[in-house]
Amino acid sequence: MIRPILRAMKALGEKRSTVEFPEKRESLPDSYRGSLRLDMSTCISCRACEIICPNKTITMVDVLTDKGRKVMPQVGHERCLFCALCEEVCPPKCLTLSKDYSYEAYDKRELLKRPEELE
Ligand code: SF4
Ligand code: SF4
Repeated sequence: MIRPILRAMKALGEKRSTVEFPEKRESLPDSYRGSLRLDMSTCISCRACEIICPNKTITMVDVLTDKGRKVMPQVGHERCLFCALCEEVCPPKCLTLSKDYSYEAYDKRELLKRPEELE
C-alpha cells in the first residue's frame, strides 16, 4: 500500500518523460517512414505509384495545373502500409515518404489527401 505512494512522490521530482507535442518533436531514425509528400511540378502522371501500391491506397485524380488538366496521386493515409514501394517506383522521385507523423484525425476521411494537400 505504501509502495505506490512512495513511487508517486518520487515521480513528482523527476523530469517529464513525454515531450510537449506538437511544439517539440521526437528525433526519429533515418529509416522512419511517415506521411507521403508529392512534388506536383515534377509528377509525370505515369500511374506507376497507383499500380504498385499493394493496399490500393493511391488513386489518380484530376488536377488543374499551369499546363492544363493532369492526373496525380491522391493518398488515403489510413490505408498506407508505409512500404515505400510507390517511392521506389516513381520515375522522377516526386512521391516520397516524409518524417512527418502528425496525421492524427477524428475521422479517417480526413486522412484522404488530394495531390495539392501532399505538397
Ligand atoms: S507506402 Fe506502400 S502502401 Fe503506402 S501508398 Fe506507397 S505503396 Fe501504397
Ligand atoms: S507520383 Fe511518380 S509514380 Fe506517381 S504518377 Fe506521379 S510520376 Fe508517376
